[in-house]
Amino acid sequence: VTMPIEALCFAINAHKDQVRKNGSGCYISHPIRCVKILEEAGVVDPEVKAAAVLHDVPEDTPFKVPDVRARFGDRVARIVEQVTDDKELPPGVRKMLQVQHAGESDVEAQYVKTADTIDNLEDMCLCPPEGWNFERIQSYFMWKKLVMDRIVFAEDDQIAKNLKARFARALEGTIT
Ligand code: ZN
Repeated sequence: VTMPIEALCFAINAHKDQVRKNGSGCYISHPIRCVKILEEAGVVDPEVKAAAVLHDVPEDTPFKVPDVRARFGDRVARIVEQVTDDKELPPGVRKMLQVQHAGESDVEAQYVKTADTIDNLEDMCLCPPEGWNFERIQSYFMWKKLVMDRIVFAEDDQIAKNLKARFARALEGTIT
């Protein structure tokens, strides 16, 4: 069994009682699509894909970063940790910290963060969360754009270029 499949099994179990906020199905469809987005951008590293499929486990399930480390090792755990918000903090503070710290993570974590954001925008275009009006969706996009603008990749990073282009398309799709 390859690491991303092992990670997928772990994530399916961890998220089993959870559904997407917008009612677009089982929660696990979101982390799976994040892996797909990364593959389509050119990511082949199995540990980055494993981290992507696990990226919401510490925030949303009883399993935390040390559980990820115990099963998948330091590197995967480090990526997951860098894309995990401290849920003890109020939402407004978390949003602000996301913007402040956006540019400080390892490049692998930036890929996962970008794929996560792309999927959230694409999913929201297809299926807006119940009760969200245009203004609320638009301000969500604007905040995501602020975070993404802070992420700086190396000039010759083709994966990053592919991800940024897809993010720009997703952003357009939602705002217009
Ligand atoms: Zn996510």
